[in-house]
Amino acid sequence: MNSKSQPRALNQNHLLLQLKDLVTGLRHHLEEERAMGLEGWPKSSVPPRKKAPSPPPASPSSLTLEEVREELGDCRRCKLHSARTNIVFGTGNPRARLVFVGEGPGRDEDLQGKPFVGLAGQLLTKIIQAIQLTREEVYIANIIKCRPPGNRNPEPDEIRTCEPFLVKQLEVIRPKLICALGTFAAQTLLKTEEKISLLRGRFHQYQGISLMPTYHPAYLLRNPNFKRDVWEDMKKIKKEYDRL
Ligand code: URA
Repeated sequence: MNSKSQPRALNQNHLLLQLKDLVTGLRHHLEEERAMGLEGWPKSSVPPRKKAPSPPPASPSSLTLEEVREELGDCRRCKLHSARTNIVFGTGNPRARLVFVGEGPGRDEDLQGKPFVGLAGQLLTKIIQAIQLTREEVYIANIIKCRPPGNRNPEPDEIRTCEPFLVKQLEVIRPKLICALGTFAAQTLLKTEEKISLLRGRFHQYQGISLMPTYHPAYLLRNPNFKRDVWEDMKKIKKEYDRL
C-alpha cells in the first residue's frame, strides 16, 4: 500500500466500522422500541429455539395444586378476607418451568379471581409473548391472594399469613425459573430489604431455583422508561429458560 492509498483505506475501514455500529445500534434500538411499546412486544426478537421438553423436575411436595387450593379454602386467616370478592390463587401450567410472582390482586383480578388480568396484566401477557411463551405455558401467582382495599400495599402480617401458600405452590410446581415482579415479590421471596433497582438484572437463588427480580408491570405503565431494563431482564430469563 502506498502512502496515498493508506489513509484512504483507513478511512474506508473507519467508515465501515461506523456503519456497522450504526446498523447494530439501530437494530438494538428498533428491537427495544418494539419490545417496549404497548402496541406489542416483538414476536421475533428472541428467536424461538426448538428444544425437546425436559421431564418435569422431581417435586419435593407430594401435594397437588388442587390440594394446596383446598387447604387454603375460604381463607379468613387475615383481615383481607372481609373486603375481597374472590381469592386469586394462581393460573397456568402446573408443570411450568417459569413462574411469575406478582404482588397481589387488583380490582380486575379480585372480580375475576385470576391474576394479572387488568392493564398491568395485559402488559405482562405481552412481556411473556415477547419471549416466545404463552400464559398457558407459565404459571402466574402473587405473594398475597386477596386484594388489599384500594390497592394499598400488602402489610407485613398479610404477607406472613399468605406466603406459605405461595411457597407450597412453588414446591409443587418446582419451576426452573422464577421471575419476581416488583419490590414485594422480590423482597419477600429473597428475604431482603434491598431495593428492586439493585436486585433486578441478575439471577438470585430461591430454594435452589434461579430467580430474576424485575420491575412490576404496573410500575412500567407509570414509568415506561424502565421497560428497557425489563426487556434486558426478560432476555436473560429466556436465555436461561432455553438452557435449563
Ligand atoms: N398486580 C399484581 O401484583 N398482581 C396481579 O395479579 C395484578 C396486578
